[in-house]
Amino acid sequence: MTDRLAIDGGQPVRDVMLPYGRQCVDEEDVQRVVDVLRSPWLTTGPKVGEFEAAFADAVGAREAVVVSNGTAALHLAVCAAGIGAGDQVVTTPLTFVATANAVRFQQGDVVFADVCEESLNIDPAKVESVVGPRTRAIIAVDFAGQPAELDELRDIATRRKLTLIEDAAHALGATYHECPIGSISTLTTFSLHPVKHITAGEGGVVTTDDAALADRMRRLRNHGITRDDKERARRASWHYEIDELGWNYRLSDIHCALGQSQLGKLATWLERRRAIAAQYTREFADLPEVQVPAVCGGRESAWHLYLVRLNLDRLAVDRLQVFRALRAENIGVNVHYIPVPWHPYYRRLGYRAGDWPVAESAYERLLSLPIWPGMSDADVADTVRAMRKVLAAYRLS
Ligand SMILES: *Cc1c(COP(=O)(O)O)cnc(C)c1O
Repeated sequence: MTDRLAIDGGQPVRDVMLPYGRQCVDEEDVQRVVDVLRSPWLTTGPKVGEFEAAFADAVGAREAVVVSNGTAALHLAVCAAGIGAGDQVVTTPLTFVATANAVRFQQGDVVFADVCEESLNIDPAKVESVVGPRTRAIIAVDFAGQPAELDELRDIATRRKLTLIEDAAHALGATYHECPIGSISTLTTFSLHPVKHITAGEGGVVTTDDAALADRMRRLRNHGITRDDKERARRASWHYEIDELGWNYRLSDIHCALGQSQLGKLATWLERRRAIAAQYTREFADLPEVQVPAVCGGRESAWHLYLVRLNLDRLAVDRLQVFRALRAENIGVNVHYIPVPWHPYYRRLGYRAGDWPVAESAYERLLSLPIWPGMSDADVADTVRAMRKVLAAYRLS
């Protein structure tokens, strides 16, 4: 006999909802933020530069530019790559909408190239096949934390004179052939949203080895103003100039203090994420209803997400029913992501469902399980137990 599912009135596996991701904030983090609140600078003080230096060091980049969120980081990277009206940028349909939206902010045209079946990262062969005379850049996404096919993409970018931008919102701490993510592409962007690897409350970072691009992004995050406050104070002058149109994408010292404090814990948290992922993969090895995430050679994932693909032909119900049943067991499963070109805004631009068969059929089967460093062994065991319970109940006999 199988256990009665919570969705059918049975006892749930746990009493309180286990979220799929959440931040870890300790007393040290709180103290660092309080220190800033008691200091003379709340925004754009010493913490910005300190955090930028620490972040650049952590990912092996020359420059890190902190901004107000990961979407602003993408926007400034797209600006730094010189994207304007009519320029084409190639990216993946299987990502958070911000990746593609950043191109639209600059009136660029998004070209979606399908993903690889195994990694679910953008397929270099598909990228190559859509590059044309108007193509200016590629935005690769390290989906779920597993680095994209960066060697192949870099090769295409070099040969076709494109800028390689990497949306590494999922991949802080990941490595590709032993190189840290953040040190490889011309521009790499990160998010400091609470669900990501480290948080500043809100925040984003662009890393690059190109000092001129970094300078330009630092101007653009501050309205396009070409001279900073300290230099004005030094020269005893009120004069400043706007050379090109920018935004207020600054990150405050309050946020930077939190981000910097969190950065110190990244290594421990990555270890915990990797241990949880390894345990899930071991536990699900004998469950024919799920396909566990592929681990591709030469790279180490940062495990932002743990995604299984349901083998729907072995189940009597669809993904929505499995999702609802797991939620009823108080396991906060999620789905990442609805393919970007399916959204009404993109449909109105002329994109048609069905043009990215690998991404779209994978999407129909995807389910994200809870994974975050503060999860206890009991939390992991609850997720495994709920998966076994729900899949056993819906197994085709
Ligand atoms: C979270 C995320 C972003 C945006 O980050 P925000 O800080 O929320 O603006 C961009 N791309 C991907 C793939 C993300 O997961």
